[in-house]
Amino acid sequence: MDCWHCRRTAVGTCRFCGRGVCEDHANTKPFVLELFRANESMKALVVEDALFCGACKPRPAPVDLPELDV
Ligand SMILES: [Zn+2]
Ligand SMILES: [Zn+2]
Repeated sequence: MDCWHCRRTAVGTCRFCGRGVCEDHANTKPFVLELFRANESMKALVVEDALFCGACKPRPAPVDLPELDV
Protein backbone atom coordinates (compact mmCIF):
# COMPACT_ATOMS: atom_id res chain seq x y z
CA MET A 1 0.00 0.00 0.00
CA ASP A 2 1.25 3.53 -0.84
CA CYS A 3 0.92 6.86 0.96
CA TRP A 4 -2.18 8.82 -0.07
CA HIS A 5 -0.12 12.03 -0.28
CA CYS A 6 3.24 11.14 -1.86
CA ARG A 7 2.98 7.53 -3.16
CA ARG A 8 5.81 6.32 -0.91
CA THR A 9 5.35 3.03 0.89
CA ALA A 10 2.83 3.52 3.68
CA VAL A 11 3.76 2.67 7.27
CA GLY A 12 0.18 2.65 8.50
CA THR A 13 -3.47 3.12 7.75
CA CYS A 14 -5.65 6.04 8.78
CA ARG A 15 -7.95 4.95 11.62
CA PHE A 16 -10.75 7.10 10.25
CA CYS A 17 -10.90 6.40 6.52
CA GLY A 18 -8.41 3.61 5.74
CA ARG A 19 -6.04 5.61 3.50
CA GLY A 20 -2.36 4.64 3.69
CA VAL A 21 0.19 7.12 5.09
CA CYS A 22 4.01 7.16 5.16
CA GLU A 23 5.90 8.32 8.25
CA ASP A 24 6.27 11.86 6.88
CA HIS A 25 2.56 12.27 6.41
CA ALA A 26 1.26 10.38 9.42
CA ASN A 27 -0.68 12.56 11.86
CA THR A 28 -2.44 11.61 15.03
CA LYS A 29 -5.88 12.55 16.22
CA PRO A 30 -8.02 11.42 19.14
CA PHE A 31 -10.31 8.59 18.07
CA VAL A 32 -13.51 7.72 19.94
CA LEU A 33 -13.32 3.98 20.45
CA GLU A 34 -16.51 3.54 22.39
CA LEU A 35 -19.30 5.51 24.04
CA PHE A 36 -20.79 4.30 27.27
CA ARG A 37 -23.09 5.53 30.00
CA ALA A 38 -21.70 6.10 33.48
CA ASN A 39 -23.69 7.66 36.32
CA GLU A 40 -26.34 9.09 33.98
CA SER A 41 -23.84 10.82 31.70
CA MET A 42 -22.25 9.64 28.49
CA LYS A 43 -18.52 8.94 28.55
CA ALA A 44 -16.22 8.25 25.63
CA LEU A 45 -13.30 5.87 25.57
CA VAL A 46 -10.76 7.74 23.43
CA VAL A 47 -7.49 6.73 21.81
CA GLU A 48 -5.44 9.97 22.00
CA ASP A 49 -3.01 9.25 19.17
CA ALA A 50 -4.86 7.22 16.58
CA LEU A 51 -3.20 7.37 13.16
CA PHE A 52 -4.75 10.07 10.98
CA CYS A 53 -4.01 10.70 7.28
CA GLY A 54 -4.69 14.46 7.29
CA ALA A 55 -6.84 14.09 4.17
CA CYS A 56 -10.18 12.97 5.52
CA LYS A 57 -12.47 15.02 7.73
CA PRO A 58 -13.81 12.93 10.58
CA ARG A 59 -16.70 14.47 12.50
CA PRO A 60 -15.86 15.52 16.07
CA ALA A 61 -18.77 13.46 17.36
CA PRO A 62 -20.60 10.39 16.12
CA VAL A 63 -23.48 11.17 13.79
CA ASP A 64 -26.99 10.08 14.71
CA LEU A 65 -28.49 7.44 12.47
CA PRO A 66 -32.14 7.57 13.47
CA GLU A 67 -33.23 5.36 10.58
CA LEU A 68 -31.29 2.47 12.15
CA ASP A 69 -33.25 2.83 15.40
CA VAL A 70 -35.80 0.05 15.21
ZN1 LIG B 1 3.65 10.45 2.33
ZN1 LIG C 1 -8.08 9.47 6.86
